[in-house]
Amino acid sequence: MHAVPRRGFLFAGAAAMVTRLAGQQTASRESLVEDVVTANHILAAQEIVDAFGHVSVRTAPGAGRYLISRSIAPAQVTAADIMELDLDSKPIAGEKRTSYRERFIHGEIYRVRPDVMSIVHCHAPALIPFSITRIPLRPVYHNSSFVGEGVPVFEIREAGGDTDLLVSTPDLGRALAKALGNKPAVLMRGHGAVIVGKSIIESVARSVYLEVNARVQAQAMAMGARITYLDEGEVKKRAEDPDPYGRAWDLWKRQALLSNR
Ligand code: MN
Repeated sequence: MHAVPRRGFLFAGAAAMVTRLAGQQTASRESLVEDVVTANHILAAQEIVDAFGHVSVRTAPGAGRYLISRSIAPAQVTAADIMELDLDSKPIAGEKRTSYRERFIHGEIYRVRPDVMSIVHCHAPALIPFSITRIPLRPVYHNSSFVGEGVPVFEIREAGGDTDLLVSTPDLGRALAKALGNKPAVLMRGHGAVIVGKSIIESVARSVYLEVNARVQAQAMAMGARITYLDEGEVKKRAEDPDPYGRAWDLWKRQALLSNR
């Protein structure tokens, strides 16, 4: 049994749900901010991000603006920390705070991917082996079937020579966006990953299941036998599901509330 939510909370939750069902066509600022805060807490509770990592949402379809937290740990993000940036990843007029050093990941991907409404950047350790070997991530699990659409690896040396590995300039952001291409995610060699989605539910759920896929694939490879991957037809069929992760958001949100107490 869970407690009956307060009336205001119930309305806010219902509004956010309507927003998500409508593909964020009618998202109010308040519900978008609430979704970004929730996404931060979910990713922290699911251990996809730790002290580092970030998640953003485009303000509306086709908009050249996005919402992201100021530079703090995801678990600590509140509505008051959310900032609005343009596609140059500059804060809108009057904003004095600064967002993450790697904010250019978000601006430069939104610029070239009109289909993308939300972006996650994480450093989940299970992903790293697939960024530093020549073994590609391949789809091994139904919830991560999108891996079959391709997960390339971004080699920052090709764009910037010796760097501190951070995507901290517009040029590096553009190079990363190019490496992502039209794919659902890109690994960053020796660093982490960027995962995109047509909604904030999709970018968050893909982040969770990309990490699961990496663990399961590594386990299967360690067993040493031939692996049967999901085939192209299965990947295609799964991609036809309009809302494969809807149920997960509300569960993960509740778990994040419990773990953040
Ligand atoms: Mn990073």
